[in-house]
Parts: sequence; C-alpha cells; structure tokens
Amino acid sequence: MEQFYDVVIIGAGPAGLSAGLYAARAKLKTVILEKEKAGGQIATTDEVANYPGSIEHATGPSLVERMVNQCEEFGAERVKDAVTRFDFEVNPKVIHTESGAIYYAKSVIVATGATPKKIGCSGEAELTGKGVSYCATCDADFFTDLEVFCVGGGDTAVEEAMYLTKFARKVTLVHRRDEFRAAKSIIEKAKKNEKVDYLMNSVVEEIYGEGILEGIKVKNVKTGEITDIPASEDDGTMGVFVFIGYDPATSLFNGCLTMDTSGYLITDDTMRTNIPGVFAAGDVRQKQLRQVVTATADGAIAAVMAEKYIESL
Ligand code: NAP
Repeated sequence: MEQFYDVVIIGAGPAGLSAGLYAARAKLKTVILEKEKAGGQIATTDEVANYPGSIEHATGPSLVERMVNQCEEFGAERVKDAVTRFDFEVNPKVIHTESGAIYYAKSVIVATGATPKKIGCSGEAELTGKGVSYCATCDADFFTDLEVFCVGGGDTAVEEAMYLTKFARKVTLVHRRDEFRAAKSIIEKAKKNEKVDYLMNSVVEEIYGEGILEGIKVKNVKTGEITDIPASEDDGTMGVFVFIGYDPATSLFNGCLTMDTSGYLITDDTMRTNIPGVFAAGDVRQKQLRQVVTATADGAIAAVMAEKYIESL
C-alpha cells in the first residue's frame, strides 16, 4: 500500500503529537506513526504536575488522551506501525513499515524519544511509580520529608540529588565506583550540602515492598557484603531515583542522521537535522532539559519548519 503525505511524524509522544497538531492545523496532510501506544514516557507517568495548565491530579494517560484528541480533531492521522527502513535522501522521502506499507513524505519529523536506563534489579519494574522514579522534576514533591536514594554517579545523579534535598529529609547517592563521573564543580557543590550522603562502591541489588517501596538491598561491589536498608517505621516508605543515563531510540537512523556519542540526534534550534526536510523533536534530540513542556515546544517548532520547508520545494 502506497500513501502520500506532506508530513510523516515518527513517534506519538508529546513531541510527535504536538508536531501533528501544528502540522494538521497548517492544513498539511499529516500522519503520525507509532509502534506501540501513544504517549511515550508520560503514558506510564502517574501524575504530570509540572506541565503548565495541567489539571490537578491529571494523570499521564489523561494528558496523552487530550493531546491525541486535539491533534485528530485537526485532521492528523495516526497509524500503529513500526518503521523498518527508509530513504530520506530522495524526494519525496520514502518510509517502509512493518505492515508492508510505504509512505511517501515531503518532510519527516523524528520524535522517537528516549527511555531512562533501568537498574534491572528485582522489584524495580513492579515498584516504578510506587517509590521508584526516573524523574526528580516530576516526582520530588511526593517524597517531601522522606528518605531518598539516588542511583548513579554522573552529572544528572549528583545534580538531581541536590534538587531532591529541597524536598526529601535526606538523599543518599548510591554509586558503583569510588569516584564520581560528574564534574568536579558539581561534586564540590554537593559536598557542601549537609542533606546529601554517599554510598560508594555500591549497587542496588533488590527493591522491595508490598504495593509501595519499603526498602532496598545494596551490595558493596568490593566486599560483596549485602546491606538491607528498610524505610524507617515512621515513614513506611522511601524513594529510589534512578539516574544512570538514557537510551535514545535512534538505532534505526545510524549512519544517516548525525548523532552525538550517546546516540542523541543533533539538530539546530529550528529542529533541522543534517538532512534537508528531516527534523527531530523531543527527547530524541541532544538537549539540556527533557520534559513534556520542552518536547511539545520542539514538536511545534519542527512542524512550522516542516511547513516552511515544504513551501520552499
Ligand atoms: P552519564 O554521564 O552517562 O552517567 C551515568 C552514571 O550512571 C555513571 O556514573 C555510571 O557509572 C552510572 N551507571 C551507568 N549504568 C549503571 C548501572 N547499570 N548501574 C549503576 N550505575 C550505572 O549520564 P548522565 O549523568 O545522565 O549525563 C548524561 C550527559 O548529560 C552527560 O554528558 C552529562 O555531562 C550531561 N549533563 C550535564 C549536566 C550539566 O552540565 N549541568 C547536567 C546533567 C547532565 P560509571 O561512572 O561507573 O560509568
């Protein structure tokens, strides 16, 4: 099946849905391809409190539903299908999908997102959103006056640990080596913060709790000793924030779109990639702040730039 579009958007997270809204409102024939379900990371986020205008106690899925409805109202189509291969160098650009469909597009917006790396220990998946988090900006508030453990030793882990001290009673950085990867200036700042404690040469072996996080087991990688750290009886729960890097969904674009050493797509501030007519938006881009609000802004810019590109053809 061959289909012709002005814009094909790959990925239906906040960046892709925002791009879809702006492209469809500009009367461009638009389709959003999504291999799983719409929403990306926020589809599994219990509460999105930091998106401007969020309704109180709005869940991630309800925000996604509103975004989907809004972009469909303006005429953007959505198709559940995975991109398998493509040719972005020709005009129109060609995109093949798992179902065997072939899409032709004047412009393409890549919004495939990124996912936080997981520790991979037992209990992590079950207690995600119930004490385990991958986003301090999103969830810090839920841990006010509680004890929190931050896993990782890079800039993100140390900076987010400091941010979490504004909410938590105490924040312990759990790092697998005896030296941090984070910049010295960031570590020096953390060392001055009396609420930050350190568990070096340590990895989280187990996260446990019945429906809510009740404790963790930490292994000293030098001695092999395992220490059980239960939540205090008064608190009944605690937090584990995991900051061990992200995996951008860009393997498909290897050798075609320019990426940094971590695999994030490099764009200019108008979301242009190295290929004319191909834009990138959201967490898949090399950027400083990965949030719903920055993803939707990227999507809007990418769609407007796609419109201008199409006009120039
Ligand atoms: P990162 O620099 O890749 O650091 C990841 C950290 O997680 C490392 O300390 C690593 O340990 C640890 N780690 C990785 N896998 C692990 C596992 N399975 N179990 C336990 N620990 C694990 O990631 P990031 O901190 O998110 O930073 C990403 C990029 O953004 C970096 O380039 C960073 O400089 C940049 N950034 C900059 C700023 C800033 O300039 N203010 C703020 C945030 C991020 P090892 O050290 O042992 O490998």
